[in-house]
Amino acid sequence: MTFQEFNFKNNLQKSIDDAGFKEPSPIQQDAIPVILNGKDIVGQAHTGTGKTAAFALPILNMMTCNNEVEAVVVVPTRELAMQVSDEIFKFGKNLGINTATVYGGQSYSRQLKHIANASVLIATPGRFLDLLRDKKINIKPRYVILDEADEMLDMGFLDDIKEIFTFMPEERQTLLFSATMPNAIKQLAKTILKEPEFVTITKSEVTNSKIKQTYYVVDEYERDAALIRLYDFKNPEKSIIFCRTKKEVDRLSTFLVSQGYSAKGLHGDMEQRQREEVINAFKKDKLEILIATDVAARGLDVNDVTHVFNYHMPFDSESYVHRIGRTGRAGKEGAAISIVSPHEFKMIQKIQKATGGKLEAKIIPDIKSVK
Ligand code: ADP
Ligand code: MG
Repeated sequence: MTFQEFNFKNNLQKSIDDAGFKEPSPIQQDAIPVILNGKDIVGQAHTGTGKTAAFALPILNMMTCNNEVEAVVVVPTRELAMQVSDEIFKFGKNLGINTATVYGGQSYSRQLKHIANASVLIATPGRFLDLLRDKKINIKPRYVILDEADEMLDMGFLDDIKEIFTFMPEERQTLLFSATMPNAIKQLAKTILKEPEFVTITKSEVTNSKIKQTYYVVDEYERDAALIRLYDFKNPEKSIIFCRTKKEVDRLSTFLVSQGYSAKGLHGDMEQRQREEVINAFKKDKLEILIATDVAARGLDVNDVTHVFNYHMPFDSESYVHRIGRTGRAGKEGAAISIVSPHEFKMIQKIQKATGGKLEAKIIPDIKSVK
């Protein structure tokens, strides 16, 4: 299938060509016609499968550009707000469509000024709700999109989201996208969507088959040494190392830098500006290793991560799926390497059961001892 078959406006098709998108991904193939038909939709597909364009392209095609906010996209984090805004701007600019982002930690006045000129608003739930409650903005969007809905619920935004919808017009098209579909999302969908169509990928495809998954069993005290050996052995171009806690991120980044690696940490206790700096350096290949907590790395769209390391296994299999989804994006190959101590062993089985995928057990290569 090609994008031409959707009969998008010429200027939109041109941006799609410019972006180098050749054919729609499965979620795009299934979701775009439903959205163009004016129906509410619940779309589920694993991380990195192009959910942003799945809602952005049909919405952009339908917008009238009447100099008012016609579409609102609610996303879990500031990083994601900027990312989604970039993607929508990329596709919308030839149509004369402007975007504005709204998130906590930035001045109200500046954001309000941007909103005045925007047709698409991308917002995090907390700040958006503040603006609505204080009547700082009065908008009647025709399209309301909840992106990465599972993550918003994980982060405790359920009540905020429900309240946001009390400010949205009755007459609207509502779209909900999510990598996973826990019951809480289905419940939410029932209350805010009207007769939605469900577009879902099957469970066996939950983890991207382009990602080679392996694990290495080590004793607890060997974790640092194992990480360094594996890292040197794999020699990745660009990797993310996942930790369970902020403290662990700080400790590990100090350690890796002391060993001469190009590494920086990313977690929620850092200043927003600092976080943006780290993400930008990583995106621009000025940094080889990003060490992150699950929350900090949510939705992060860095296209060319070659390796994901799990320094510790996550607490649940959904986090595992999110983590390894940082690699193998847009059809590229990726590797997910987990360092597992004997007491984390059960997690491997849980993950295999949940994803239908297989993790291959391997032995640590004794390439060089740690300095
Ligand atoms: P998701 O929201 O499902 O995690 P994204 O929307 O962030 O995924 O898309 C992941 C990456 O794939 C992005 O860099 C995006 O530009 C790219 N992408 C999306 N759709 C296509 C496509 N049809 N062809 C090529 N690249 C695509
Ligand atoms: Mg997404």
